[in-house]
Amino acid sequence: MIRRLSLLLLILAASASAHTIGRYRAVPLGCEGRWALLRLFDLDGSPARLEVDTQTLRTRIATGTPPETSPCEASSRYLRLLRRASAAPHPLQNDGITHASQGLYLTTDLCPSSKKGYEERLYRSLITSFRHPVPVTLFITKRWIDKHPRALEELQAWNRKGRLAITWGNHTAWHHYHPGVPLEHNFVLSPEENLTADILELEKSLIRHGAIPSVFCRFPGLVSDSKAVAAVAKLGLITIGTDAWLAKGQNPKEGSIILLHGNGNEPRGVDRFFKLLHRGEIRGLRSLTELSLSKEN
Ligand SMILES: [Zn+2]
Repeated sequence: MIRRLSLLLLILAASASAHTIGRYRAVPLGCEGRWALLRLFDLDGSPARLEVDTQTLRTRIATGTPPETSPCEASSRYLRLLRRASAAPHPLQNDGITHASQGLYLTTDLCPSSKKGYEERLYRSLITSFRHPVPVTLFITKRWIDKHPRALEELQAWNRKGRLAITWGNHTAWHHYHPGVPLEHNFVLSPEENLTADILELEKSLIRHGAIPSVFCRFPGLVSDSKAVAAVAKLGLITIGTDAWLAKGQNPKEGSIILLHGNGNEPRGVDRFFKLLHRGEIRGLRSLTELSLSKEN
């Protein structure tokens, strides 16, 4: 009986956490060539690091002894976007980059949800409507990941098979929310918030499941203040807002960053997306890593 129980525990551990992570920490931004070092950690007991390509904005996990770094090129795409995303003014809602100079960018938020399923119809329609792989950003939370292992596996399988090209965006691990509380004290401005831990915990959860965190972050409820934006920028993340929250009736135009909820909590937005799709108003999508601003400095 004990043996059977320990075997079951082993199986559970294997399915819930493919990788073990230790000593996960942010490091002050430094570069080796075009790669900026973001995090150091132990991956399955060996030294590993998360890095971003300062020109393409793509991230990777490398193993081995971390390189010596020097200050990053201030004019690189990555540093220019980081500066732009964290610049004043700092509105209470929708701070950061809300639109690009061209293209359309689809972002789908996976906030915590008690719903069993998710907007599978949305991701399936992307796969049937656009050339593969279809770029889509998932602003994901640990609480959604923990509740929806099968949905996560399905999304990752499409990613592996080259049907979707998923950018794994940070929507914090816990996504604090208090119904009825003013925005000034809600979401990441809640008294219990520890934003750095909230951001890093989500990254750890992604890596544990074999996904590579990107350098994009969306605040829960799109709510933040100057301190929160500075904290996120210090962690090397680019804050992304939206100018086309479809469920709120906003319409995408050239350069729009479209916001939908992929967790099933806002079906109206997905319905509107389908209407636009059928009317031929969404011809193609770009990855956030291709984000271009008119004056990036
Ligand atoms: Zn959210």
